[in-house]
Amino acid sequence: MTSNLIDANGTIPVFAGTHVPQLRLPSSVRLEVMQTNGHQPAPATFVETEIISNDEIAPEHYLMRVRSEALANGEPGQFGVIRPGAATDVHPILPRPMAAYRYDREAGTADFVYRVVGYGTAAMAQRRAGDIVEIVGPVGRPFPIADDANGILIVGRGIGVCSLTTLVEAARQQNTEI
Ligand SMILES: Cc1cc2nc3c(=O)[nH]c(=O)nc-3n(C[C@H](O)[C@H](O)[C@H](O)COP(=O)(O)OP(=O)(O)OC[C@H]3O[C@@H](n4cnc5c(N)ncnc54)[C@H](O)[C@@H]3O)c2cc1C
Repeated sequence: MTSNLIDANGTIPVFAGTHVPQLRLPSSVRLEVMQTNGHQPAPATFVETEIISNDEIAPEHYLMRVRSEALANGEPGQFGVIRPGAATDVHPILPRPMAAYRYDREAGTADFVYRVVGYGTAAMAQRRAGDIVEIVGPVGRPFPIADDANGILIVGRGIGVCSLTTLVEAARQQNTEI
């Protein structure tokens, strides 16, 4: 669906009516709205989120665990959009999307695994347990498994496999062959 989304104030409504006032584009700009198949996206609001741990688990690879009921209840294939710097920074670095690597609904936590390749991930790697990061999420269209699926084939490579681990866990839980 394509529609002119600029309202009278020159703002662009994104994610179910949430407005981002700092985004101002010419009224000729048209945005493509992603279909969500009934899935309700999270509001595009950054939430201050506590880092529980942020450890190097392999050379250049880190696992950041955060405390968040919302993220912990995300679905397979969803991701968070993380401001890499401290909450008090002016945020010179744009937020970075990071796939949820694991959800722990009981503990109310979510994990992100990332590889340090540039400015954003280098800033993330400097964050410590107890720090606050700002995250929007969970966002993105989930990877649903059809009820009548006999099995699923999962293909991934490199750091991209981190977006598939929640799908693997969901498949295991519903005894879907992988
Ligand atoms: C939906 C989604 C999910 C994602 N999930 C993950 C995830 O789970 N884990 C993960 O690690 N990443 C993930 N990514 C990618 C992530 O968002 C970042 O884009 C990525 O980690 C790089 O961010 P950065 O800020 O460190 O790199 P940037 O600073 O943005 O740099 C990007 C690339 O450009 C290179 N570069 C930067 N500056 C220069 C320069 N001056 N000259 C030459 N080259 C340069 C860097 O080396 C790097 O390779 C995901 C992306 C999407 C869209």
